[in-house]
Amino acid sequence: MSWFHTREVHPGVWLVAEPSHVNSWLVAGTERAVLLDTGLGIAPIRPVVEALTDLPISVLNTHSHFDHIGGNHEFEEIVIHELGAGPLEADIAGDLLTDYMEYTHRLLAAAAEYRRADADLLHLLTGDSDPRPLPADFDPAAWRIPASRATGTLADGDRVDLGGRTLEVLHTPGHSVDSICLLDADAGLLFGADTINTGPIYAQLPESDLGDFAASTERLANLAPQLRSVLVHHFGRVEVAPSFLAPVAEAFAAMSAGGVPTTPALDCLGRPVREAHFEDFSILIES
Ligand SMILES: [Zn+2]
Ligand SMILES: [Zn+2]
Repeated sequence: MSWFHTREVHPGVWLVAEPSHVNSWLVAGTERAVLLDTGLGIAPIRPVVEALTDLPISVLNTHSHFDHIGGNHEFEEIVIHELGAGPLEADIAGDLLTDYMEYTHRLLAAAAEYRRADADLLHLLTGDSDPRPLPADFDPAAWRIPASRATGTLADGDRVDLGGRTLEVLHTPGHSVDSICLLDADAGLLFGADTINTGPIYAQLPESDLGDFAASTERLANLAPQLRSVLVHHFGRVEVAPSFLAPVAEAFAAMSAGGVPTTPALDCLGRPVREAHFEDFSILIES
């Protein structure tokens, strides 16, 4: 079984999921295609996306975090927000990967029981969400994410022309300073990157900023009337309705104003955080 699960979610837009981990997205125009993020680097992603399109494929990173750049080194052309170009060239700290692998083992161990309960009672698991075993030839102890170099940078308002399809760059800091979302206005698709998520939304990182998050998510919520769908980059609910955006923006506005109750929790690296729970998502902040 492949580490990746792929499917064409909208015409010319493929989910390239590492199910329940990271969702990368392949977006094709008539001239070329871009891969929005390259995942964890646990298995080669380039052969997987080259099987989906004959067009030349370049990488467009939504930000520089390790879980979105793992396969960058497989590609010649990489663009990222101008604030992400520097971090892309830095080595990824080994303890980050060790801690993430612990989370992966925890997820896989829990999945067996979860699958049984799902088959019996809940019926929610799909190919998008059911976590897959690590590839047989993958050695967790040898897992590295090589540094990569941007061949171009992006700024807010830039338009990426794929031929017959344009992606507009929205700089949406909050999760990280270099976070962007991509808007395909003609198709009504928004790619939410790590700014919009259907599980915990990570605002606990040293570079996270709740005020910026509130402004960015309000900007996205204002786009909702012109959208058909929001495609997200983590967890098993890979696509949500545009109506998902307003509650996220309202939650961040409330969080940045203070006074939202939180409970102690752990993030995917096992670091202590505080979590604010909302109906369809949660928000992590530093403890
Ligand atoms: Zn991130
Ligand atoms: Zn991420």
